[in-house]
Amino acid sequence: MLAIFDERQFLHRPLTRIAGGELKRSPEQPERIAALLHGLDEAGIAVQPPREHPIDAIAAMHDRDYLAFLETGFQAWRQLPGAGPELRSSVHPSRHMSRLPQDLLGRAGFYQADASCVLVEGTWEAARASANTAVDAMARVLAGEDAAYALCRPPGHHAYRDQAGGFCYLNNAAIAANLAASQDARVAIVDVDVHHGNGTQALFYNRRDVLTVSVHGDPAHLYPYYAGYADEIGAGYAEGYNLNLPVPLMSGTEAYLAAVAKAYEAVRQFSPDVLIIALGLDASKDDPFACMAVDETGFRRMGEMLAALRHPTLIVQEGGYPSPTLADSLAAFLNGFVGH
Ligand SMILES: [Zn+2]
Repeated sequence: MLAIFDERQFLHRPLTRIAGGELKRSPEQPERIAALLHGLDEAGIAVQPPREHPIDAIAAMHDRDYLAFLETGFQAWRQLPGAGPELRSSVHPSRHMSRLPQDLLGRAGFYQADASCVLVEGTWEAARASANTAVDAMARVLAGEDAAYALCRPPGHHAYRDQAGGFCYLNNAAIAANLAASQDARVAIVDVDVHHGNGTQALFYNRRDVLTVSVHGDPAHLYPYYAGYADEIGAGYAEGYNLNLPVPLMSGTEAYLAAVAKAYEAVRQFSPDVLIIALGLDASKDDPFACMAVDETGFRRMGEMLAALRHPTLIVQEGGYPSPTLADSLAAFLNGFVGH
């Protein structure tokens, strides 16, 4: 297995998120990268930088004006009198309004789903590097690699065509999936992050060339709340090509793995050319979000199970936040996957 990582991902340094009604330090910090690199080291997997790819693969999955907002929004914000250190809107279009205004704060509210996707100085460069990492790793799998791990940060699975959310800006796994699909590959995405992959689901909801499967904590009680339920199965001729497997919060390893086993069966039946694993590690019992209780053995078995599908595989990093065992969770999954 090879691993791809781009140092520019360190440049995104968000300060805060809103939790418990208060501004708190964002856990989606560059220090995550150090832990993930440590995990790769533990698993004995060498890291290499990505080749630079044109923006086309990203632009194929994201709205043009949204990309312009991500690229230029922060600098425009800093020109405004009284601008703070992060661009975060406090007003968003509700269910009853849907116009895109010209004003920068209005646009920010339109493009930011929640308070956990601020723009700071290095956001665009890091997000683009993160997506380029997934694109490059996918290109290597399409060129014949058995498996590649893309260390992507910021993560991607909550990002929609024109909306950031939940620490995500560009949907790295979806961009990679669409790249493969554009070369006539049938793709399955299995998302094991503890939060539902709502952006990924939406991007492929009307498509049957990409099967989307998400294992996650029950959204009735967990972000993203408004999507991720079992009755969301895809639309129109793509009905049956989206599978949500919500798990009760604070379930342990066995319950989570039982859902992953259902994901395995769905992928086996779909029989894709390429498998993408959206690898969030925040189902860990030690994750600061504390919403699931999967142990290290669980991550190893998850890796073993998904490797048993025996498809060319791209593993894309999603969530997983600073904890004493973040590196071990990654190493356990990858060791399980490669059969160490
Ligand atoms: Zn997550």
